[in-house]
Order: sequence, then C-alpha cells, then structure tokens
Amino acid sequence: MSIEIDHINKHFGNFVAVDNVSLNFRDGELTALLGPSGSGKTTLLRIIAGLEQPDTGRILFHGEDTTDKHVSERGVGFVFQHYALFKHMTVFQNVAYGLTVRPRSTRPNKAEIKEKVMRLLELVQLDWTAHRYPSQLSGGQRQRIALARALAVEPKVLLLDEPFGALDAKVRAELRRWLRRLHDEIHVTSVFVTHDQEEALEVSDRVVVMNKGHVEQDGSPEEVYDHPANPFVYEFLGNVNLFHARVHDGVARIGDVSLPAPEYQGYKDEQGQAYVRPHEIEVFADSQHTDALHARIELVSVVGPTVRLELRTDNSEDLVHAELPKHRYRALGLSQGGDAWIRPIHSRVFLPDERAA
Ligand code: ATP
Repeated sequence: MSIEIDHINKHFGNFVAVDNVSLNFRDGELTALLGPSGSGKTTLLRIIAGLEQPDTGRILFHGEDTTDKHVSERGVGFVFQHYALFKHMTVFQNVAYGLTVRPRSTRPNKAEIKEKVMRLLELVQLDWTAHRYPSQLSGGQRQRIALARALAVEPKVLLLDEPFGALDAKVRAELRRWLRRLHDEIHVTSVFVTHDQEEALEVSDRVVVMNKGHVEQDGSPEEVYDHPANPFVYEFLGNVNLFHARVHDGVARIGDVSLPAPEYQGYKDEQGQAYVRPHEIEVFADSQHTDALHARIELVSVVGPTVRLELRTDNSEDLVHAELPKHRYRALGLSQGGDAWIRPIHSRVFLPDERAA
C-alpha cells in the first residue's frame, strides 16, 4: 500500500506542528521519520493513522483520498513506545484480540484464530510464551508481542512510534535488526518514528529528516548520511567538525588542503564552513604531507575497535574530532599528549547564505 502525504498542515493554537509536508511512501517500504523532539514526527504519524485531522492537505492510501476516513477504516496497525498489552490477558489472548472483536461475519473461527496467532508468535520467535502474561516477559519480548498483535489484523500499513524507545541500548540494537529482518519477510508498508539517528540509518529503506514541522531531507540512509542537504541534517546525523574554508571555482581550501567542491563551480573566493566527519580526517604521525595540519592529541578514547581522538591544531581554539580503527592507531604509534598531523579527506562546504544548500 503506497501512502501519499499531500501538502499537510497542522497547528495547535499558534504553534505549527506540521508545516506543509508532502511525501510519498512506496508500497512495502520501511521509512523512518527522524528528528529532534517536537519536530512534528508523532503528529504526522497520527495524521497518517487518522488519530489526528490535518488543518489542510490530503492523505492518500494507494491513490485513494483517505483524509476523512475513520482510523478503523484505514487498515493500519500500531506499535507505541509503551507496549500497551492487556495485563490480564495471556500473550495468546493479546495477539488474538483484534481478531476476536471483529463482527461475526468477518471473524475467523477458533481454529483459524489459533493457527494465525501461533504463526505470528513463531514469526516474532516467541511461540513458547503463548500462555504467559505480559508481566512474565522482558521489555523487548513485550514489544515483539505488541508487534505480533498489530500484525494479526493484517494491516496494510504499520505505524510505529518510538517502538524501542523505552528499552536499554543492547535490547534496542537487537530489536532493530530483528525488525529489519521481519520487514524483509512481510514487506508491509511501514513508517516508524525515532529521534535516534543510528536506529533510522540501520533499520530503514528511507529516512525523512524533520525539523520544526518541515522536511529537511528525504532520501536513502546513504544519501542523508553521505550527502546531507544542509547543516542541520549534517549535525543531526552524527558528529562533525567545522573548518573555515575558502571556495574558489569548485575547489574548497581548508588550510593548505584542497578538496573538490563541485557544487560551487564558478564561485569566486567565497568564505564558508567545511563540514568534515571524524572518520573523514586522516591522521599521520609525522609531517610527511606538507598540506597536513599539525595538532596535539589532547584525548584518546578507545570505543571497541575504534579510537576517537580529540586534537587541537596550532592556530585553532576548537577541538578537532578524528576517528580511526584501533589497529591503525597502534601502527602509527600515536599517544595522548603527543603530536599528530591531520588532513580532511572529504568535506561538504556551506556558504553563509546556503546558496548551495
Ligand atoms: P517527540 O519526539 O518529543 O515526541 P515529535 O517530533 O514527535 O516529538 P510531536 O509530538 O509531533 O513532535 O509534537 C510537535 C509539537 O506539537 C510539539 O511542540 C508538541 O508540544 C505540539 N503538540 C503535539 N500535540 C499537541 C496537542 N494535542 N496540543 C497542543 N500541542 C501539541
């Protein structure tokens, strides 16, 4: 089921929660709505669901205008951050619930319900919990049951609002990989809200970055991470260093380093800011490269297989963050308090007026 969001606006009092948003979600796609708190993600999700009415604009499901349809007529399944399972029902009864409350004419019989529920419990790999109560499950297991319950009614669209938000980091990481695999199996059009960039990049086919009610960028995880459309997306999607840059005819100069800036072809001697990710900084132990900047290593932190360095260049008040594999750090013989030479290997420059943004 494809979903088209056509010029949607929504305000609460004077506050604009969704600001003229248009998007298309393709059939079977898993899309993340990513943005800081208050950027309008949940409001947009609720509008898709039919839990909230837009002020203006339309929602189309598979080309059909659904804006005025009641939530119960849209064929959507939900999973929220706080797994709202019924405490007094077993896992089996929770998953079966949506089927048992159907009108008699469309309600499956007992045997059919049993078969379907057990199939869903197998899908979320929790068939052994069928006779347990929610209180006897871990948080991650409850979220998988909530998902099985949402899937039981065969929704055409699955909407997830921070589904793993209340769980600890390890369980979260496991569940998002699991959601990705599950989605590859069932291919239901899914939209999930998150403010966690790693989660959005890892799980989804597509990432919509929102800020202050509008869409800053819409693209594949690679596109939004490797080619952020503007400074907001750059900074929201991960750590970044800012360097002063001079742009001249498609070339950006950061100190003595020249890097391509093809979007500024024809520009003459403009000043801007170069955005460089920590892993896009090359680190050397000596001054073999004449264009590298000398710096002192102020802090070394080892995070699993990666070493993060905080460096201060000779003429800069700012710290530069660099990241390199541990084996490379060791081979270079670098250490905290010692010298290093650094060179950006990739940058994206934004001029103050963001003409190229
Ligand atoms: P979060 O990650 O914190 O949930 P969000 O990006 O999902 O944020 P929304 O929940 O969509 O953001 O809220 C957007 C803005 O609209 C917020 O500033 C919120 O306070 C406001 N808002 C949402 N619902 C209502 C409401 N029913 N009445 C008044 N203001 C609302």
